[in-house]
Amino acid sequence: MPTSLNHTPALRRKGKVIVVGGGIMGASAAWHLSKAGAAVTLIERAPNCLTTATASSFGWVGASASTPSENQAAFAERLKALEEFVSIERELGPLPIAARGALLWGSTDDETAAMITEHRAAGTRMERLAQSQIAEKEPMIANPPSLAAWAPGDFALEPTAFARQLLAGAQVAGAYVRQGTVEAIKAAGNRITGVVVEGQTLPADTVVLANGYSSRSLALTVGVDLPIYESPAVLLRFGTEADGLRHLICAHEMEVRPSLGGGLVSAADYPENGETGLPALAALTGQAIAHLFGIAAAPSLLSINAAQRPMTANGRPLCGYVGKIEGLYALIAHPGVILAPLLGRLCAEAVLSA
Ligand SMILES: Cc1cc2nc3c(=O)[nH]c(=O)nc-3n(C[C@H](O)[C@H](O)[C@H](O)COP(=O)(O)OP(=O)(O)OC[C@H]3O[C@@H](n4cnc5c(N)ncnc54)[C@H](O)[C@@H]3O)c2cc1C
Repeated sequence: MPTSLNHTPALRRKGKVIVVGGGIMGASAAWHLSKAGAAVTLIERAPNCLTTATASSFGWVGASASTPSENQAAFAERLKALEEFVSIERELGPLPIAARGALLWGSTDDETAAMITEHRAAGTRMERLAQSQIAEKEPMIANPPSLAAWAPGDFALEPTAFARQLLAGAQVAGAYVRQGTVEAIKAAGNRITGVVVEGQTLPADTVVLANGYSSRSLALTVGVDLPIYESPAVLLRFGTEADGLRHLICAHEMEVRPSLGGGLVSAADYPENGETGLPALAALTGQAIAHLFGIAAAPSLLSINAAQRPMTANGRPLCGYVGKIEGLYALIAHPGVILAPLLGRLCAEAVLSA
């Protein structure tokens, strides 16, 4: 539950802000905007939809999922984004964290050692763990590698619960959340005037597009072409047979973590052969988990969901005013769970200082 509000009602002069989309991005923007005093309405078409990116996200928050050499600016941004979670926890109370700390290893010790060296040089707290230390930290692992990386600052968050926490905080701070599908954006001259929700026009001075890839078609209704695309990934949930895992594990290409409600969560690339490849992917992941834990049978599969991740063409967050139209703001980025708290705050600052 929210513990402090930090209202600044004087800022309500900034007019009406409509946030489209109640995933992690929209929820963060709505919370930051409303607690800073903006008059916010968030419109979400399907609050319990299981195929949105946030509802199907693995929820790995930390810098270890990427390396600085892949993209220095993106890496630095992720490190910066982590600080935001501390402020949110201070204001909204305990976050829905399923595991603290990540254990990672590559296909060879050399690969793992190189990753640790690179991360440490970039200023992270990544440590080397020898086999006996891995066994002590994570007794569930049947045959620990001789070397693993330990990332104490990484954690696994339940993304849906986190988005709901932010939305609840936004509502307490005065945001209005309503269900509906935004069909079009309205503009007069070069200014935003509102949105159309199921045939009805709702007035707005600012529209924040936080509805993932669907932002593209919505922006086109006022002639703005957003450089975004979607890329599928798969989330798998397994039963409680293998309960007891304490941390997030990234072993070779497999990612697995405990779930807050019990059981395990794993994320995987979308199969090359599409939907028809999902059963085989589920079987392979189950076997890999059984092998990791040294158990005879794969844990029972509870669900497998493929969801589209909104991506930007240049890999950098789209977080700012877009097009030649005043009042249209876009908020689309990957990895969205890590970046949403930071980008939501930047969005609020930009909107309220416009
Ligand atoms: C399998 C998988 C694993 C992932 N793992 C990680 C991870 O470990 N760490 C990480 O940081 N990121 C991860 N991601 C990416 C992350 O989940 C996304 O970047 C993030 O959830 C995007 O959030 P969003 O709010 O932009 O989009 P969404 O969650 O898709 O939310 C958009 C919302 O807009 C609503 N909407 C759409 N159109 C309209 C409309 N016209 N009117 C009203 N509402 C509308 C939708 O219903 C939806 O709720 C993963 C994603 C997947 C699929």
